[in-house]
Amino acid sequence: ATPLLEVQGLQKHFKVRHSRNPVKAVEQLSFAVPAGSTFAIVGESGCGKTTCAKLILGLEPPSAGSIRFDGRDVASLAGADRRTWRRQVQAVFQDPYASLNPRLRVATIVAEPILANEKPTRAELDRRIAELLDVVGLPADAARRYPHEFSGGQRQRVAIARALALRPRLLVLDEPTSALDVSIRAQILNLLSDIQQQYGLTYLLIAHDLALVEHFADAVGVMYLGDMVEQGPTAQVFGAPRHPYTRALLASVLRPDPDVPLPVGMIRGEIGSALAPPPGCKFHPRCPQAIDACRSDKPVPTPFSPLHWAACHVEAARATGAPTAAAPAA
Ligand code: SF4
Repeated sequence: ATPLLEVQGLQKHFKVRHSRNPVKAVEQLSFAVPAGSTFAIVGESGCGKTTCAKLILGLEPPSAGSIRFDGRDVASLAGADRRTWRRQVQAVFQDPYASLNPRLRVATIVAEPILANEKPTRAELDRRIAELLDVVGLPADAARRYPHEFSGGQRQRVAIARALALRPRLLVLDEPTSALDVSIRAQILNLLSDIQQQYGLTYLLIAHDLALVEHFADAVGVMYLGDMVEQGPTAQVFGAPRHPYTRALLASVLRPDPDVPLPVGMIRGEIGSALAPPPGCKFHPRCPQAIDACRSDKPVPTPFSPLHWAACHVEAARATGAPTAAAPAA
């Protein structure tokens, strides 16, 4: 079957003032998401996952590559076809405090996307708002209230109701629970899970929380400095990670704050700069397994099963039984 979302060689470079080099925020990203499934993109802050979300949402044009939605290249869509695509791809963002206009009642917030696209009667609009609030588990009187009257979890429910208002097929979930109390996260995840089943939704989940990804995603891509370094079904990537960076991320799974550096000994130093990324494998300055080739040659994806691959010289050599000729880098 055709995947609902198919990304091929996606690239995004940003020009920077006073620099000849662009910021290579996303490079050569390719993945496919079957309808009704969840694909997660994980990585540290600055790895390019948020840029990827913006490209998929159509908020930024790609520098190269293609995004196909329901079998059609979105760059070729115009007029009514383009408006249909924009309606069918919606987002839920990290911070429900920042993403809801505090001056608007919940009914107006949820109605906004509907009124921007359709001309329902007052009764029809009220019925749809009531239905959406019910779907996300909010009481009917929530419609008359303002965002500040709600808790963080309830606000995220409002944001989900708004995202569902145009009956989308793909939801981009950008860190949907990381601003919420731990006690509330499970409720929002259960809600997202129920909604996915009920409406057959497809999710692109952007996250740093690996426990969430393991629980929620069918497949996962691991990003490092704009590159996808490992990709595959979640059970395979988490059960038998091949890339040293994935292994390091998994080793730090109990790390509650994504901005706290990864444990010493697993990998060294900070994520590098996308403006001047290291040559060869971008991960080599931090990699405990690096060999000479890692400093000059960019590794290409090596398949470890039909759907699971990683881009690493040492793991590729291991898989083929080839010797890793050079001594470990200092
Ligand atoms: Fe480490 Fe080299 Fe593999 Fe990169 S290619 S992850 S530096 S071993």
